Amino acid sequence: MPTNRQWILKRRPQGEIAPGDLELRDSAVRDLAEGEVLVRNLYLSLDPTNRIWMSDQDGYLPPVGVGEVMRGGTVGVVEASRSDRFRPGDIVNAGLSGWQDYSISHEEMARPVPRIPGVPLTAFMSVLGGTGLTAWFGMMDIGRPQPGETVVVSAAAGAVGSIAGQIAKLKGARVIGIAGGPKKCAWLREIGFDGAIDYRNEDVGAALDRLCPDGVDVNFENVGGDIMNAVIARMNTFSRMPLCGLISTYNAEVAAGPADFGRVLMKRILIRGFIVIDYLPRAGEAFAELAPWVASGQLKWKAHVVEGLENAAEAVNRLFTGDHDGKLLVQISPEP
Ligand code: NDP
Repeated sequence: MPTNRQWILKRRPQGEIAPGDLELRDSAVRDLAEGEVLVRNLYLSLDPTNRIWMSDQDGYLPPVGVGEVMRGGTVGVVEASRSDRFRPGDIVNAGLSGWQDYSISHEEMARPVPRIPGVPLTAFMSVLGGTGLTAWFGMMDIGRPQPGETVVVSAAAGAVGSIAGQIAKLKGARVIGIAGGPKKCAWLREIGFDGAIDYRNEDVGAALDRLCPDGVDVNFENVGGDIMNAVIARMNTFSRMPLCGLISTYNAEVAAGPADFGRVLMKRILIRGFIVIDYLPRAGEAFAELAPWVASGQLKWKAHVVEGLENAAEAVNRLFTGDHDGKLLVQISPEP
């Protein structure tokens, strides 16, 4: 059996994830039991929620325990199998199998990943994976953009935001994205956003007044804090706010609510927090739209792949600095 490098949560971060919060250790891979498969992980998904899982707050999943392998989603290749359902060489999504070279999954927990000519495996960690599902269900189930309505997306050039905004465009809405820096804003315009606000270099409120003269009907919220407050202040009567994330607050572990909570009442704003895992049983509905859009090139997406499991702990902070270009992944081992 091979040696397995595993990232262990050594202590809970205070603020940003710092060197020493996680530790890379070698461990042995145990023998397989009946019904299990040994998976060599190919790609690891790095997600803002990793920071939530490292804290001991009352979240939607239990915290990762100190001393445990860091939780994370992977796609890998079956190396050995004691299951009739999987053979060596099969590509599988092994669920939240962790920041490690190898994982053992029960056949019930592993899902086959199709190999589609022209579609890279990284798509299944992004637009055709949890990222795409988050964007689609948040926008379609909660945001419900109507043709001609104005939709605002924060962290718009990121993995979820860029897809959420394009979905609203494909449904006929006007879409304004908020992102950090001229390069990300230029890309948003390139992929069809009607406007982009560089929150690092311009006043978000003034830019929203200019770009959303009829107010905001849907706010796909990824960030929280001042950016969220600037958008809420411009939300229309009976507008909707899919609350997807609050990334500006994760390192502080405390999220303040809207500064003007009264406006939620006065304008009858629907604010609905959601977590993608609740939608997994309905994934087929989303993929039925997303897959053809991806195949036809109508829906653009990008992956930012960092090489090497050993770089995962440093790379995860890129989500908080914005120093990445697309869905942040770590390549753990070469594709077969
Ligand atoms: P992204 O690819 O969007 O990366 C995160 C981006 O957030 C950064 O690139 C940065 O963009 C922006 N950002 C970080 N800190 C701040 C800040 N303080 N102020 C403003 N912008 C900031 O990651 P994801 O697409 O994976 O996640 C986006 C959001 O979606 C997160 O809030 C995440 O928690 C949420 N999410 C929710 C899910 C759910 O089930 N509800 C599932 C998956 C993700 P920039 O360079 O533009 O500043």
